[in-house]
Amino acid sequence: MSSRRRVVLVAMALLAAAVCAADAWAIERFPPPDFYSGHQLPELDQRPLRLPPWMDRVHVAALATGLALSTWFSLRLRSRTAIRWLAVASLVYFGFYLGGCVCPIGSIQNVTLALADADYTLPVSVVFIFALPVVFALLFGRVFCSGVCPLGAIQDLVLIRPLRVPLWLQSVLGLVPFVYLGAAILMAATDSFFIVCRWDPFVGFFRLDGNLPVMILGGVLLIVSTFVGRPYCRFLCPYGALLGLCSRVAWKHVTITPDECVNCRLCEDACPFGAIRPATTEEDA
Ligand code: SF4
Ligand code: SF4
Repeated sequence: MSSRRRVVLVAMALLAAAVCAADAWAIERFPPPDFYSGHQLPELDQRPLRLPPWMDRVHVAALATGLALSTWFSLRLRSRTAIRWLAVASLVYFGFYLGGCVCPIGSIQNVTLALADADYTLPVSVVFIFALPVVFALLFGRVFCSGVCPLGAIQDLVLIRPLRVPLWLQSVLGLVPFVYLGAAILMAATDSFFIVCRWDPFVGFFRLDGNLPVMILGGVLLIVSTFVGRPYCRFLCPYGALLGLCSRVAWKHVTITPDECVNCRLCEDACPFGAIRPATTEEDA
């Protein structure tokens, strides 16, 4: 086994051990209260599935493993096929098996509520679910979006013939996720309701159950996804906006191979997600 592989395996084992240890520590330090606090959670249409407590740890460990694999496939192997298979596995596990909940996207609201309301106890597993993709984005860019998020995967799978969204329109619509992020934080902080969960467009498909307006929104987004790459990710997702900010200052990024690039710029048109921007300086070109 190469030393690089050994380092990755040791890192994954340490991460899994840290998750279990932190969970056990938190249970001991913050035992469940045996009194009724009267605290009411914000109204939700889509409630987390009732899972046995040990599943939380499996879920967090699976998320950490998925992020590690996505990083490896993107930055080292540079394999689109490997990323695609990882995305399919994530869609099956996080989407259809776990019912899409609790997901990092919705966890923004739990974290906000915990910061704003001292009566609300944030489960340790939700801290990890929120923080792991953010930490990976700060280190390696949006590896959560590329291969681990089931919402991204379901949009990728239905993409048939991507059209190019004009740059100006992409820039304008790209502001919507930041507005949505602000609204979600405000609503969670004021204990109103969890808008991201209520309007999660794909969770109804994962569970084969959901309220009609949200299912219609999801259906429309899936139809649009057949000819526009990942419309929810690019023009709505509040967590994507947060990860995008983190990835701008990331330690490492996926890069175009400078030794092989002949600066033909075909990739600018070919990228289905409009992720490759025209170079603005001679150095960028
Ligand atoms: S932008 Fe949002 S929905 Fe899309 S892959 Fe990233 S976290 Fe998931
Ligand atoms: S500019 Fe041309 S050669 Fe360079 S990465 Fe894009 S498609 Fe490939």
